[in-house]
Amino acid sequence: METNPTRESATDRKNLVGLSRAELAAEVADIGEKPFRAKQLWHWIYHQGETDFAKMTTLAKSLRDRLAEIFEVSRPALSREQTSDDRTRKWLLKFNDGNEAETVYIPEDDRGAVCMSSQVGCTLTCTFCHTGTQKLVRNLTSQEIVGQFMVARDSYGEWPTPKDGGRLISNIVMMGMGEPLFNYDEVAKALKIIMDGEGIALSKRRITLSTSGVVPMMAKCGDELGVNLAVSLHAVTDELRDVIVPINKKYPLADLIRACRDYPGANNARRITFEYVMLKDVNDSEADARQLLRLVKGIPAKFNLIPFNPWPGAPYECSTRAAMDKFTRILNDGGYSAPIRTPRGRDIMAACGQLKSASERDLAKAKADARIRRMAARLDEALPHA
Ligand code: SAH
Ligand code: SF4
Repeated sequence: METNPTRESATDRKNLVGLSRAELAAEVADIGEKPFRAKQLWHWIYHQGETDFAKMTTLAKSLRDRLAEIFEVSRPALSREQTSDDRTRKWLLKFNDGNEAETVYIPEDDRGAVCMSSQVGCTLTCTFCHTGTQKLVRNLTSQEIVGQFMVARDSYGEWPTPKDGGRLISNIVMMGMGEPLFNYDEVAKALKIIMDGEGIALSKRRITLSTSGVVPMMAKCGDELGVNLAVSLHAVTDELRDVIVPINKKYPLADLIRACRDYPGANNARRITFEYVMLKDVNDSEADARQLLRLVKGIPAKFNLIPFNPWPGAPYECSTRAAMDKFTRILNDGGYSAPIRTPRGRDIMAACGQLKSASERDLAKAKADARIRRMAARLDEALPHA
């Protein structure tokens, strides 16, 4: 896996987005400016959403000119923006090294969540997940993660940062491409920027990080970030989970459940979400539901039942409605909330587990086209010409 992506910008100016407060202060000190200038810049970048130094009017004109010579405040390039019939919006973003990742906005009546990616692709190979079939993988930088949120805010014109309670983009779920706990440092840096009260100011209570179960990183995530935790469980036995969520071979169910029980900050008001993808005749029996209740006993938990979202060539089918209804009822009777999630944005391939960069799809298509052309050429050679 590539861990040090090329960071050259389209220009040779340094992008200030994604620097921690300390790093921004160091840049400001380097050009001989007083520390309060860093505070002002932070406000312009993350509260106002301003990208043009010339408009940062609390800074002296000479300083604005200087900043514009050395720095920039930019976003990842937009390869494509699509809006679904159900108003779900998806952005395909292109980073400076040409890699791409997807970000999705899922609107609700008076609020909505941005589903952000933590990696290009994913090193894990969960058998039901489209992202897991992507070959190319690298970690996203803090700049690229914060950039995803800023692209969403730009798209809805949600600058300057509105008061909490009056925002279209009110929540974040780290549930896009990649395993966020395999890229903990950059994810943590990005989320700290996003949670900073003088900028984007999104509360940790409005952020949920989803993990396939990277057990050794879970406590740190809870201690340092205090965000809500979602765990992709999907199976109630090691035998099945080893197959569908292969990280289980390294961190089996007993270890994962213990880490959930110990997750800092989890209580009845802030429950751990157990995600469970509904796979027909694989993990959706009544016995599975009852075993699930035994497994999470004593953990402040809730469930999210995700109907399997198909993708081309996927080896599974989604459970029947009747099986899902029965599953929900058993969990409800056991005292837990367990809604069946309505898939959003299916028509634009924006639903859970469908994210995969277009470049990868295009590559596959180009290879298939080339194969067909080669076959046609051979056929052409073999056939006698008139
Ligand atoms: N890597 C992290 C976060 C990204 S996946 C994780 O695995 O938790 C986000 C969620 O989508 C996970 O619960 C994942 O299991 C689920 N998912 C993946 N593919 C899916 C599919 N095809 N249909 C439904 N849910 C899927
Ligand atoms: Fe990676 Fe999550 Fe997909 Fe598994 S479900 S392959 S961990 S993105």
